[in-house]
Amino acid sequence: MSVSGKIALVTAGASGIGYAIAKLLSSKGAQVWICDIDERRVAQLSDGENPIRAIVGDVGDEDDVNRLFDHVLGQTQGQLDILVNNAGIAGPNGPLETLHPDDFNETLRINLLSAFLCTRKALPVMKKCRSGSIVNLSSTAGLYGFPLRTPYAAAKWGIIGLTKSLAMEAGAFGIRVNAICPGSVSGPRMDRVIADEASTRKIDEDDVRSQFVKQTSLRCFVEADDIAQMVMFICSDEGAKISGQALAVDGNTESLSQID
Ligand code: NAD
Repeated sequence: MSVSGKIALVTAGASGIGYAIAKLLSSKGAQVWICDIDERRVAQLSDGENPIRAIVGDVGDEDDVNRLFDHVLGQTQGQLDILVNNAGIAGPNGPLETLHPDDFNETLRINLLSAFLCTRKALPVMKKCRSGSIVNLSSTAGLYGFPLRTPYAAAKWGIIGLTKSLAMEAGAFGIRVNAICPGSVSGPRMDRVIADEASTRKIDEDDVRSQFVKQTSLRCFVEADDIAQMVMFICSDEGAKISGQALAVDGNTESLSQID
């Protein structure tokens, strides 16, 4: 598989799943841009010989997104072949009536509005070339009810609605739009989610962790690289006929219900 000669932008790409995606696309020949709010990581990535080009920006903010696209498209002679809308936050944990509307809004802003804002800037460029691949990061929380995480689940179901509808709008222009639904990915973010949930439910962190694992047929967490491989496949020529799909990479989640 190759993405040689393609230009890719991965949002929130300075660490976690986004960074794994950026590294793999870059190693397979794409010119990769990332943006992230983490200024220190962006500075590190911009240091030295790293082929990944990094920019500071909040993709839930329209002005930042406009600035980001002006910069990237200015440097690539207006070319963009791959957009990975990866930015997302876990949002608050707890029974809905205890959650604050500001936290609900913030969860939707980073997970869903960001994908809308970036896609809206990428589409005119892709339409002009009559090709392109847009990948939106949803979650298994976008496929199942997810008690105590209603804002996150609402945002990730929203990502799938956006994906399937846009795939129909953009298909005539040769643009493919897919969502990926990772299961629980090993790493610091899942550690935070588990700690939060253990504290909300007043149970041990190890019990929460083992419940997450038991929810999957393969009894596993997934790795950021598993997600990157799927992005690589759907953005390569081998994935040329895949559009409008919500693809789970999750060891087959059987349920996300953890309320005792
Ligand atoms: P993460 O929490 O590790 O964060 C990755 C990066 O996002 C960080 O570098 C952070 O600085 C950046 N970021 C946060 N808000 C931003 C913003 N507004 N603009 C730009 N950058 C921002 O995330 P992750 O675990 O790698 O998750 C990536 C995506 O995958 C998210 O959409 C997430 O919801 C989804 N997902 C993750 C998991 C998981 O288990 N980690 C599971 C399912 C879905």
